[in-house]
Amino acid sequence: MYWEESAESALRRVPAFARNIVRQKIEEHAASRGCSKVSVSVIEEADRALIISAPSSSSDAAKTSHSAGHKQQSEDRALIKSKHYNLKICSVQNGCPNQVMNPAKLMQRLAQTLDDSGYSKFMETRALGPNIRHKSFTVSLAGCPHECSQPLVHDFGVIGRSFVIREYGEGPESVCTECGECVNSCREDALQLIGGEPDIDYTACIGCGDCVRACDRELLIGQRSGYSVVVGGRLGRHPKFAQEVMLLGSEDEIEASLRICLERYMADSEDGERFSDFVERVGIESIRQSIEEGMREAREDACEMKEASNG
Ligand code: SF4
Ligand code: SF4
Ligand code: SF4
Repeated sequence: MYWEESAESALRRVPAFARNIVRQKIEEHAASRGCSKVSVSVIEEADRALIISAPSSSSDAAKTSHSAGHKQQSEDRALIKSKHYNLKICSVQNGCPNQVMNPAKLMQRLAQTLDDSGYSKFMETRALGPNIRHKSFTVSLAGCPHECSQPLVHDFGVIGRSFVIREYGEGPESVCTECGECVNSCREDALQLIGGEPDIDYTACIGCGDCVRACDRELLIGQRSGYSVVVGGRLGRHPKFAQEVMLLGSEDEIEASLRICLERYMADSEDGERFSDFVERVGIESIRQSIEEGMREAREDACEMKEASNG
């Protein structure tokens, strides 16, 4: 697609490693609007479509995040923002056909977790320096492994996944025709036909659900669905990809893992240290252990409470 020079120059401001995906998204948006070329106004329109809007000021956001308006904000907008944190979501709410999970409600829960954690109050005690915005805690949620909201370059990223099985039903319609559409749809080379049946390599599968949509006979179904958590990503001068600390969690587990990350950061970080630097210093394995221990303690507490209530 043809790009006007002013549009090319706007694109050059995007970090190099993210430029191709941004270019692709903008061209997809332009094509969906019937545009044959990309101008700055097309970029702005695409930007609005991908990140619908943000509250106009931190005080507005702070007000809404502590009120019933918080819920409305999560449902209507792609971004929740305050002075010390922001959360964004991909455009899954707009009926994206690729979605395998819809994290809109989870986003609202995570905003509440941030509010309840005392994180904002804690940050007011830190020496933040002039670049306060760069020290905001960033959360990004994506409804599938396409990761349009770029969770890998945020402090705390959440990615919807759905792992697939072959469903065996009764009757001739449940027979695999060996058409190969599922194999062709898999961009991870995780699927092949063996003995006339689809065979999934779960070490390569990323849970995108493309093969489910590709099979007209509906022989493949999403069996285990949930969210991965990645932590410690950032853009900026020294960009870094977030690393996985949980493969497939429920909404409760994602919420608990955010709370544990915040508690650990508030207890052990050094003054002025942003979250991604903290993760780098203590090591991803240490963060994983904290999450696992926190989860185990929560499960034990729940068991004890249940036993106590049963007498
Ligand atoms: S991350 Fe997936 S669900 Fe979200 S907008 Fe992108 S393709 Fe759609
Ligand atoms: S879910 Fe995605 S990655 Fe996994 S086998 Fe299907 S198409 Fe391949
Ligand atoms: S798309 Fe469906 S019918 Fe075709 S090979 Fe795959 S499982 Fe079999």
